[in-house]
Amino acid sequence: MTARVIDGTAVARRVREEVGRGVAALVAAGGVAPGLATVLIGEDPASEVYVRNKRRLSVEAGMQDLHRHLPADADQATVAALVDELAADPAVSGILLQLPLPRHLDPDALIARIPAAKDVDGLTTANAGLLAQGRPGLRPCTPAGVMALLDEYEVPLSGAEAVVVGRSVLVGKPMAQLLLARNATVTVCHSRTRDLPEVCRRADVLVVAAGIPGLVGDDAVKPGATVIDVGIHRGEDGLRGDVEFDAAAEVAGAITPVPGGVGPMTIAMLLANTLTAARVQQGIGD
Ligand code: ADP
Repeated sequence: MTARVIDGTAVARRVREEVGRGVAALVAAGGVAPGLATVLIGEDPASEVYVRNKRRLSVEAGMQDLHRHLPADADQATVAALVDELAADPAVSGILLQLPLPRHLDPDALIARIPAAKDVDGLTTANAGLLAQGRPGLRPCTPAGVMALLDEYEVPLSGAEAVVVGRSVLVGKPMAQLLLARNATVTVCHSRTRDLPEVCRRADVLVVAAGIPGLVGDDAVKPGATVIDVGIHRGEDGLRGDVEFDAAAEVAGAITPVPGGVGPMTIAMLLANTLTAARVQQGIGD
């Protein structure tokens, strides 16, 4: 293997430590420790694991764990009332509605009730609009984590060719906007893209978020490129991403592994967003 392996676990740990110092500084400046309200509806095992990790790491960073849990059969009005209650509660700095919700619930209508200032997942229309306009706001955690990795490894972005595979609201679209804000020349690919490998081979920075195991192989990687794999799939022999890691690592200059790449960054950026939200709400800067 020739590529440098990007260590998301280590970068995430550093980000969380920095957030912990920020929380301590906020409290020392007369502020209140940020409160993170994770909201879990039902008992989906994967969601339970994610929420447990978010709660544990928020407490480790010195935050208040304001977790709420409703049964799987909670109706739309009940969940809406809970979101409204958290929205009005000054102890709550950030509201994280764990997705996916049970099928009978409408996630968009619930997300719309989260005040932009407490939208630590960066999912509201208001925060998406601020990002599109290049104005300050809370950014979606996964693409924000990718940017933090690129910066930590000093990957040049200004004028670089960046290709994003995927156009989801959660990852692909905000990813493209964040790269554009840093003056990359951004191409967005999707399920209708003709000759995906050919487009990907243009990339100095290739971010893959298509949700398809092994979609991107070495034929799609320009020699020396930085390859960021956002995909995560549970297979028979463990976790794997959207990128054929072993093959791509022979061509790439740097590459994220799965697990241990983008994954750990997502929670770290959630904590960073929660600290930012608390600072803004309390009017105490960094
Ligand atoms: P995520 O939340 O990880 O971004 P989604 O499953 O919500 O993933 O979205 C998958 C995205 O990947 C979509 O935007 C889709 O257009 C894109 N995609 C799916 N299949 C392909 C493909 N074969 N080539 C390129 N992009 C694809």
